[in-house]
Amino acid sequence: MKARKVQNISFAKEFPMGPMRVKQPLPATNLRQVSPFLLLHHAGPDYHTPNGKQPRLSPHPHRGFEPVTFLFQGKIHHKDSLGNEGLLNAGDVQWMTSGKGIIHSEGPSAAFAAEGGNFELIQLWVNLPRKDKMTEPKYQHLTKETMPVLQEKGLTMQLVAGEYKGQIGAASTFSPILAMMVHFEAGAKTFFEIPTSYNAVAYVLDGTIKSDEATIEKLHMATFDQTGEGIDFEAITDGKLLLLAGEPINEPMSTYGPFVMNSPAELKQAIEDYEMGLMGVLES
Ligand code: MN
Repeated sequence: MKARKVQNISFAKEFPMGPMRVKQPLPATNLRQVSPFLLLHHAGPDYHTPNGKQPRLSPHPHRGFEPVTFLFQGKIHHKDSLGNEGLLNAGDVQWMTSGKGIIHSEGPSAAFAAEGGNFELIQLWVNLPRKDKMTEPKYQHLTKETMPVLQEKGLTMQLVAGEYKGQIGAASTFSPILAMMVHFEAGAKTFFEIPTSYNAVAYVLDGTIKSDEATIEKLHMATFDQTGEGIDFEAITDGKLLLLAGEPINEPMSTYGPFVMNSPAELKQAIEDYEMGLMGVLES
């Protein structure tokens, strides 16, 4: 099968965000967006000493897209204006639909702060099609146990969303998406089959991989073109990556901070609705 070409490699530059530091390969100076994926933040890996401290992102709103959290290491406590409160463990995924508006806060759980340990997560912003931007907000807590795991030599693929080799991921999505958390060992090889109409990226959290003769080091995101049936993959070292692919949403975008809409008028409405308290209330 024909492999897609590596079109771009972006580096995940680090910067402070509230009490945390995050690395951001998307968007980057050489990468605007890979529809339907708008933004990717990688927090950690950090070792937290067991001191009871819980650095936390304070309550903030979202409208018009889906903030998705992939927890690779540690434990998170989440709270939102729908009344959901949840504890995520390593390997769990939180697929949130902000729709017409949600307010949430999140950070390491009390148990994690007491025990200490390694902490690492990815937060991804997935755009919503115009027809679904004002849908009712919802929250899917996908525990590791509910996700199919595909094994190949030196490869473990946890299927979060979409269909892969006859298995179906746990997340329900508004547009066709394939998302996998992949752990690899040096020497592992495979061909990730991806529908030709999908955009596709691979973000390497740790380790070094090769695809289409390009070397992709950790903290880099490779973007692939649409000229093949999938992605050639070879692991140079042990490591892990997040594979993301999806049908592009070809609609105009108007964004400001935590709101992603289709027009400036809708954006203005989002800001007003938030200020009026119409996206709900969350104390802490
Ligand atoms: Mn958020």
